[in-house]
Amino acid sequence: MRIDILTIFPKMFAPVLGESIVKRAQAKGKVEIFIHDLRDYTADKHRKVDDRPFGGGSGMVMRPEPIFRAIEWITKNEKRKTENCNSKLKTGKPKIILLTPQGKTLTQKLAKKISKYNHLILICGHYEGVDERVRQRLVDEEISIGDYVLTGGELPAMVLVDSLVRLIPGVLGDKNSLNFESFEGNLLEYSHYTRPATFRGMKVPEILLSGDHKKIEKWRKQEALLKTKKRRPDLLRAVL
Ligand code: SAM
Repeated sequence: MRIDILTIFPKMFAPVLGESIVKRAQAKGKVEIFIHDLRDYTADKHRKVDDRPFGGGSGMVMRPEPIFRAIEWITKNEKRKTENCNSKLKTGKPKIILLTPQGKTLTQKLAKKISKYNHLILICGHYEGVDERVRQRLVDEEISIGDYVLTGGELPAMVLVDSLVRLIPGVLGDKNSLNFESFEGNLLEYSHYTRPATFRGMKVPEILLSGDHKKIEKWRKQEALLKTKKRRPDLLRAVL
């Protein structure tokens, strides 16, 4: 998978995407991630990415031109604008995603669908958001990470990337960890315990120490069901 991210704060990404599983996925060649500074795609000497809204009102709006130019560069592989953004992969038409609180809420199901695409372009908004013509002409999908408003689309883009990359085959060491985690089969995952067996008077459930794998599996299924019923009954109602 190739992911291009359009942002006015390119430095925000390295501390998150340059660590842990996402870092390893890039090193293993499972995903290529390119961060594009939208200011590199402006045509004026002040590298202006925002302007006042037509019709008046508060705040600034992200200008369409740098976003259109960045996407044209990425899709046509025009003259390189941002350093180190040349992909080795041959991908088809990219899916263009706008991060916006007005989009479809990100769920595990949606992350799975998006993780199957070969090439994504993520647009991070700022200020009051992006000029509506970006949405009208370029955007394939609008995604929100929840019903609250953040200052910019960078954190949502990183949340989306993290949720996708771990689903790419071969990224997680143990692929079973994807089969038994929360939201699979509309259940939350069972509880986990590790050593010591007794910690400050709290004991690990006896069954987990029994070595009887059939019984342990049954216990975990029941635990997942009870936990979901108690904490997220909406998930169960969705399958009834
Ligand atoms: N004025 C916009 C509105 O009321 O819908 C909110 C703009 S917000 C301050 C600036 C940018 O942050 C958005 O363009 C979007 O890219 C990003 N953003 C904020 N909250 C988000 C969320 N919950 N999910 C995804 N992106 C979000």
